Amino acid sequence: MIANRTTDVVVIGAGPAGAIAACLLRQQGHQVVVLEKSTFPRFVIGESLLPQCLQTLKAAGCLEAVNAAGFQRKVGANFQHRGHYEQINFADKFAAGPSHAFHVLRSEFDDILAQCAVQAGATVEFNATVTAAKNQFNDCLVAYTDADGNSGEVRAKFILDASGYGRVLPRLLDIDQPSSLEPKASFFTHVDDGILPEDHQRDATLITTHPKHRNVWYWLISFASGRSSVGVVGPPELIEPYQGEGMAGLKKIIHEDPELAHILRHAEFDSQAHQINAYSGNVTQFCGDGYAVLGNAGEFLDPIFSSGVTVAMKSAHLATTVLDKQLNNEPHDWEQGFVEPLKMGIETFKTFVTHWYSGGFQDVIYSPASNQNVKAKIASILAGYAWDTDNPYVLNPEDRLQTLIEICQQ
Ligand code: FAD
Repeated sequence: MIANRTTDVVVIGAGPAGAIAACLLRQQGHQVVVLEKSTFPRFVIGESLLPQCLQTLKAAGCLEAVNAAGFQRKVGANFQHRGHYEQINFADKFAAGPSHAFHVLRSEFDDILAQCAVQAGATVEFNATVTAAKNQFNDCLVAYTDADGNSGEVRAKFILDASGYGRVLPRLLDIDQPSSLEPKASFFTHVDDGILPEDHQRDATLITTHPKHRNVWYWLISFASGRSSVGVVGPPELIEPYQGEGMAGLKKIIHEDPELAHILRHAEFDSQAHQINAYSGNVTQFCGDGYAVLGNAGEFLDPIFSSGVTVAMKSAHLATTVLDKQLNNEPHDWEQGFVEPLKMGIETFKTFVTHWYSGGFQDVIYSPASNQNVKAKIASILAGYAWDTDNPYVLNPEDRLQTLIEICQQ
């Protein structure tokens, strides 16, 4: 048995959502205990950040440490399909705010954020797997076990669940709900890329649409080290047969696209192939008595626009702003301060994700018809500014995007 503790807020998971929440709560003067199942550094996928998230990193006091890490700078997203090549440069975006981000090794990035939380005064416990929770404001309890099977408890006023795919509270409280998006499969690795500068812009994420299947796409995310993350996503029936063959299968599906195969012709596939299937998830409610769910533990859509880490950190920022008021016995409104803005950003990305897979948004991306003004607004969304209500594609994403698709398809 581990000595039991009492704190203000217990955070489940030390990924981007949990670490940012811990940093912000410490700035507000609250005591925080973070319980993390694994030990850091550890491999996680999700390496392409969006410029918007630099605002959250700054607010949480982590930007300096991230800037100092020497991660590959990222200035845009490029798309290719059967000879079409389109560049979205974040500097052209409509929204104010940073126009660059980074390609990060998540093992290093998550470790940096966790260290920021520790430096800010949070207690971060690794090898601590949360197994049970009782939620009631001012009287919450979280039970966990360590690597040796010893059990411990943390009493807190509030629980923030940032457990990602662990989805601890959604499962325990039965608020887990399937995503409205079709299930997808992903298959990926890190390579020693051997990429020649004339073949690929390292400071932009490259999305390649499969030459035959428009609902299958590849990412190429290049790091400063000369290595890249490469992966493929699509319907399970098109990806799973390759997963069965391990790395040989991954190489085979990558070589189905001649342009991507050309860029990676000198690459050494020298590490492990990973897969995550049916990764999308949702909840029936994002918060309740004594708890809120953040990041992937709440709703996760799809990796196509690299929105996951940005949404995860934004959810932590929104939630801790309301929680600070609640802990200080000030008037607060979880619905207005957390749920509504969080859903607005998610809805914006969801509209673009849905129309990517139906092909309509790909017609926009690969169309010469989009004018500069429209491109600026699209660049804003792809840069993560999904909460900028001056952008009509945020305020009314479905109608605006549908109209744009019709114009580009004519
Ligand atoms: P996580 O990063 O998953 O962190 C959750 C933490 O909780 C983990 O450290 C875990 O160990 C811990 N935990 C779990 N269970 C427990 C428990 N019981 N007790 C204690 N701790 C627990 N996003 C991007 O922004 N850019 C990308 O390029 C990108 N690419 C992706 C590619 C693929 C194929 C997939 C599937 C996702 C991708 N994502 C990407 C999404 C991104 O990985 C996630 O959105 C992001 O990691 C979510 O952060 P988080 O803090 O919510 O959760």
